[in-house]
Amino acid sequence: MTSCTAVKTTCPYCGVGCGVEATRLPDGAIRIAGDSGHPANLGKLCVKGSALGDTLGPEKRLLQPQVRVDGTLQRASWDAALDKVAGGLRAIIDAHGPDAVALYVSGQLLTEDYYVANKFMKGYVGSANIDTNSRLCMSSAVAGHKRAFGEDIVPGCYEDLELADMVVLVGSNTAWCHPILFQRIARIKESRPEMKLVVIDPRRTATCELADVHLPVKPGTDVWLFNGLLCYLAQEGVIDDAFVTQHSAGLDAALAAAHVDCSDPLQVAKICKVDAHALLAFYQAFAATRKVVTAFSQGVNQSSSGTDKVNSIINCHLATGRIGQPGMGPFSLTGQPNAMGGREVGGLANMLAAHLELDNPLHRDTVQTFWDSPRMAHKPGLKAVDLFHAIEAGKVKAVWIIATNPLVSMPDADQVRRALAKCELVVVSDISAESDTNAHADVLLPALGWGEKDGTVTNSERRISRQRAFLPAPGEARADWDVLCEVATRMGYAGFDFTSPQAIFDEHARLSTFRNVGEQARLFNLAGLDKLDAAQYDALAPQQWPQGRARLFGDGRFAHADGRARFVPTPPRAPRNAPDAEYPLILNTGRVRDQWHTMTRTGKAAKLSGHVAEAFIDLHPQDALLYSVREGELARISSAWGAMVARVVHGGGIARGQVFVPIHWSDANASDARVGAVVNPVVDPVSGEPEFKHTPVRIEQFRVH
Ligand code: SF4
Repeated sequence: MTSCTAVKTTCPYCGVGCGVEATRLPDGAIRIAGDSGHPANLGKLCVKGSALGDTLGPEKRLLQPQVRVDGTLQRASWDAALDKVAGGLRAIIDAHGPDAVALYVSGQLLTEDYYVANKFMKGYVGSANIDTNSRLCMSSAVAGHKRAFGEDIVPGCYEDLELADMVVLVGSNTAWCHPILFQRIARIKESRPEMKLVVIDPRRTATCELADVHLPVKPGTDVWLFNGLLCYLAQEGVIDDAFVTQHSAGLDAALAAAHVDCSDPLQVAKICKVDAHALLAFYQAFAATRKVVTAFSQGVNQSSSGTDKVNSIINCHLATGRIGQPGMGPFSLTGQPNAMGGREVGGLANMLAAHLELDNPLHRDTVQTFWDSPRMAHKPGLKAVDLFHAIEAGKVKAVWIIATNPLVSMPDADQVRRALAKCELVVVSDISAESDTNAHADVLLPALGWGEKDGTVTNSERRISRQRAFLPAPGEARADWDVLCEVATRMGYAGFDFTSPQAIFDEHARLSTFRNVGEQARLFNLAGLDKLDAAQYDALAPQQWPQGRARLFGDGRFAHADGRARFVPTPPRAPRNAPDAEYPLILNTGRVRDQWHTMTRTGKAAKLSGHVAEAFIDLHPQDALLYSVREGELARISSAWGAMVARVVHGGGIARGQVFVPIHWSDANASDARVGAVVNPVVDPVSGEPEFKHTPVRIEQFRVH
């Protein structure tokens, strides 16, 4: 690596996946700039991405392995730490079986790390108890895609948002959470003001400032709204009969389910608590506009009916044949930098590598033969919320947590604390010395961070980009794939003699080219990337799979065995826990513009704290009056699961009966501000994604006793 030579890499924050040029200057400082050659951002970076250089110092880094001895974490050699992990896992597997151990990983991992972790658990330990924090942000989209398309496929690309004549953003504060993508939409809106932007969100967010229409739906009513749209499209004769007949199945059943409550827009408006004229105008505009993209994010996914919400959106696109063509289609915006890459290697407890299915014997055999592995997981493992409950119940006795901070980010986070306190062996791999979860570790393993590690990530539009190292490893930190291989080898497993991320990517890409395993014609395929030598891998330019295709399904062929897409009936369901006299308000959670997750990185950049300096509780001024809390003062919100404290603000975007709290603050960077402790642990029955957007709470003045 030469000083003052820009290294092309990828931003480690949101799923937009912007290209970054990082230059090490002679004085040691790092200059960060947008990569003008990267198709996702064409040289632009948002505030978070621009501040990456301020997050790279050694402060607060975990630099040496530590092992708990007599109740205290003490510095240890890598050898001792790895032996402790391998020996501990082996002893528990021997005594209690493979399902007594688990990995809980992260959308922050590179695809190569993810691949090795999955191979280790599913092909060698023989358990599918490996889940990821991506479960918390997009697993409903995965499940919705699989139900509708037969495979977890995002059909379109970012350019579609620019080609569309109407963009509908559902449950997405795109302006703050996917800022560069929002800037792309804003530029088009400026040059083509007739392009319609509709925002469907209970809150009036920054995204609404650009919108032609904001529909502030009652939290949890999205399915009613899109079922109503499906009915309207049928009533107005806007169904694309040719597409539906030739390329889909199940419209009648979906319409029958939608008709139960949603055939009358006035009734739908009442249920969704939106203005009836505005709703009808939206339905009319959707019906009249062929080029529509409906992009959705956590506001849709993080729900006890998240998968149905996704399918209710997809149903409307299938009904009008608006999919896989320029400027149209449903579009899932992923939260994390490599949630998509994780999906490609089977990073969820119910998936297998290369978009193959864990519950399909032929798929299992194919992967086992390819891996030449001694045993295979033969049933889905525990999803995130169930996993931590199984730990508390003593069924899972060892957990290895990599690159995530579940003590803050999980719902019912106090339950996670109880679970880890009871767990026989807790291993934590992280870059941060101050992650809240570290306190429960028996073994702490220092990991490489952004700028130090090499591999690939995949963004929301299926584009694989390289993350490249431009900094040396700090202290004794090591790559996660390397540490996983070391532990696997010490446990006696062959197949982990990888010497580089390139060798891992090569194996991953070769596995993906097993086409037509059984009856399913998979679209995920890295043909063309399966024979890269080290130099080609190093030089790999950003590209979409499969084989550079920007859009899929344009030919009307889907991944179900019969080639047809499926309409999914989505009878509407209210959120599982309704407000009541004891907990009369609805808690909604989300991100602020300039922080990322639990702030272990963005918290190091002083300028990022200028936007929002501390945790807050945003509520309507009349609710503040009603519950005797005052703007600027501390208040406590509590639910049936836990409580937190933060300052009251009136942001102006909250309707009566709701409160909004950001997800970033924790006991490590504030006090009693973990909103995860308050969030209900209810999950979607199909995807297992938690309901982060709808927890009944009460609010009261906070008094220090
Ligand atoms: Fe990074 Fe997302 Fe900002 Fe792009 S939009 S610079 S990927 S945080």
